[in-house]
Amino acid sequence: SPSPSPLPPPPFKIPPIKFTKLFINGQFVPSLSGKEFETVDPRTGEVIVKISEGRKEDIDVAVNAAREAFDNGPWPRMSGVERARIMMKWADLIEENAEEVAALDAIDAGKLFHLVKVLDIPAVAGAIRYYAGAADKIHGEVLKASREFHAYTLMEPIGVVGHIIPWNFPSTMFAAKVSPSLAAGCTMVLKPAEQTPLSALFYAHLAKQAGIPDGVLNVVPGFGPTAGAAISSHMDIDKVSFTGSTDVGRAIMHAAASSNLKPVSLELGGKSPLLIFDDADVDKAADLALLGILFNKGEICVASSRVFVQEGIYDEFEKKLVEKAKAWVVGDPFDPKSQQGPQVDKNQFEKILSYIEIGKQEGATLLTGGKRVGNKGYYIEPTIFSNVKEDMRIAQDEIFGPVLALMKFRSIEEAIKGANNSRYGLAAGIVTKNIDTANTVSRSIRAGIVWINCYFAFGNDIPYGGYKQSGFGRDFGLEGLHKYLQVKSVVTPIYNSPW
Ligand code: ADP
Repeated sequence: SPSPSPLPPPPFKIPPIKFTKLFINGQFVPSLSGKEFETVDPRTGEVIVKISEGRKEDIDVAVNAAREAFDNGPWPRMSGVERARIMMKWADLIEENAEEVAALDAIDAGKLFHLVKVLDIPAVAGAIRYYAGAADKIHGEVLKASREFHAYTLMEPIGVVGHIIPWNFPSTMFAAKVSPSLAAGCTMVLKPAEQTPLSALFYAHLAKQAGIPDGVLNVVPGFGPTAGAAISSHMDIDKVSFTGSTDVGRAIMHAAASSNLKPVSLELGGKSPLLIFDDADVDKAADLALLGILFNKGEICVASSRVFVQEGIYDEFEKKLVEKAKAWVVGDPFDPKSQQGPQVDKNQFEKILSYIEIGKQEGATLLTGGKRVGNKGYYIEPTIFSNVKEDMRIAQDEIFGPVLALMKFRSIEEAIKGANNSRYGLAAGIVTKNIDTANTVSRSIRAGIVWINCYFAFGNDIPYGGYKQSGFGRDFGLEGLHKYLQVKSVVTPIYNSPW
């Protein structure tokens, strides 16, 4: 089994942490209670720094600032071109600071430093630029209601938005929420996950430098049941956008419904199937399946955690997959050789290990992995179970770690049925050279995104979100912008129309 690569001499000196307070109305301020919480380095389990802990009273102050900025400030009133110019400047500043922000996500979330630098941070800048490009193209329609009336629609910003985001992609989740709502002309309060507050505070600092007016973007770190619940139940927040677990999504929707009926969009859990057909290139398919479950240590809601393989290639596939999993390098996220860093925190680490025990007890066969790596930090071996039955908990529950459930199928009908046997419906993958198989399966699977002969292919213009209990509403693409807009119809009589 893989042993952790020894802690390398840091290839990059981790910068001192500059921002640890709440960012409200353009200033870094301590929380009103003076309370702080610790954010922990999952490589060691040691505290990185103490962060001001926002609670209900701090959310109230932040919402007041956002409300004032929305009702009376320049942001919603400036032209889309002006908003775009400021957003473009922000994107440039983020790229200039890529190395420093990447280091923050690496120590806070255990993410691979080199990958974050070349993937996540450019994706943040790219998302900001994509939506900046849309800011001056937001418009309604002219409706010729009748001979007697002229009607048109206005697209207005929805107002003050609350964003609640998770810890697995602290940077790209931030960008997915903040950039479209900024482009729409909204103002906002964002709560990063308590595990990973560092990069969001850094982005807030750069936003101010770029010229985003005070009060438009407020960042309040804190815990879910206090700061998060204060957002979802707030009477003066006009919309909540959430990414996280299905249970918390349910709580947020309840809170929104029983307060001011604010609309919510929820991007929730997944248990995504990857279907590999007999005509696939087995070696490439095994690489894809492995990446699908191990990328970001399995802490990704679209992870291909259920892999269905057709019987003709099953044995060969299983053998290759296990060989490749054994060669996968688990180690320090700053080491360029590492392919997998530590799980984000002790809770997740223990939850994953307990699911591995559940899998064994349920009678699945543990082909490889199953243990922690080393004795420090939260590293877990790439873990593969075979002989998994569809109703086992390891085939139904989102584990959110490097644990894959392997299943065999005979016919295309059986594969589709198995893939859809889930309360989730976020993503799916298909590997085949047969276009008819690809077309049939992609139309039959109830999931928000289907990848054919690829996986994790994301793009700023590709909407992303769930079917079933994976939530509703879409991030990215123009769909991701529309949820921050409100449609107003305006109707006026026409006298003496010649038409
Ligand atoms: P995970 O279980 O993967 O940690 P969560 O769904 O618990 O994911 O967390 C995602 C985000 O939701 C975090 O920012 C967290 O603080 C927040 N959160 C957790 N509980 C609540 C709640 N009751 N109300 C609002 N936000 C919450």
